[in-house]
Amino acid sequence: MAIHPYCHPHPTIFLDVDQTLLDFVGAALRARGLDRNVPWVKYVLYEGGGYGKKFEELFCGKEEFIKCIAQQGPEFWRHLEPFPWADSLVDALYNKMLTRPDLRLAFLTSPGHWPANSAGQRILHMGELWQGTPTIICSQKELCAGPYSFLIDDLGDNCDNFKRRGGHVFKFTNAEILLDAGTTMQSQVISDISNEIDQWLTSIDSFKEALATCSIK
Ligand SMILES: [Mg+2]
Repeated sequence: MAIHPYCHPHPTIFLDVDQTLLDFVGAALRARGLDRNVPWVKYVLYEGGGYGKKFEELFCGKEEFIKCIAQQGPEFWRHLEPFPWADSLVDALYNKMLTRPDLRLAFLTSPGHWPANSAGQRILHMGELWQGTPTIICSQKELCAGPYSFLIDDLGDNCDNFKRRGGHVFKFTNAEILLDAGTTMQSQVISDISNEIDQWLTSIDSFKEALATCSIK
C-alpha cells in the first residue's frame, strides 16, 4: 500500500526575527544610550556573537538588561528597523515558494523576557512589514522542528535544539559582522541559505519517493 500524499506535511521554513531580520540590538543599545560604532561596543558585539551574555554586560547584567527593555514599553517592539538585507532575504524565500507551491514560510520569534510587552506589537509590526506571512511566537522553537522543518536563526542554542528534534537548520551570520561586511557578503549569505534550502528540499523529495515505493503488508 502506497503512503497517501496527504500524510506528508508541507515543508516549512521558519525564519527567526531578531538579529536576522530586525535590528533588536541596535534599538536596545539606543535605549541604553550606547552607539554600536564605538570600538569597545563593537568589540563586545563581535566577540559575543551579537545578542548574548556579553551583550547583557553592556547593561550591567541580565536583570538590568531586561528592566531597560521593559521600560521602553510595548512601542519598542513596533519600531525595530529591518536590516538592509531583510527584504532581499524574505524575497528570496518568497521566490522559492513560487517554484515549490507546497513550501510554506513562517516567522518564528521568541522575545521571551518581555511577552506582555512584545507579543501583540511584534505581530502587528511583522504584518506591516511583510503582510500575509504568519508570525509564530514561541520560546521553545524546537517544538516546530521535524524532518519537514527548516530553521534560519542566529542563536546557536536555538539551532542545536531544533536540530536535535530532527529539524534542518541554517545558522545565520552575526548581524554586526554582516552589517560591516556590506552587500557582497549579505548577498552571499542569502545565496548560501537558498542553496541549503534546495538541498533540503531534494532530500525531502527523495524521502517521499522512497516512502511511496515501500509496501505495508
Ligand atoms: Mg535571533
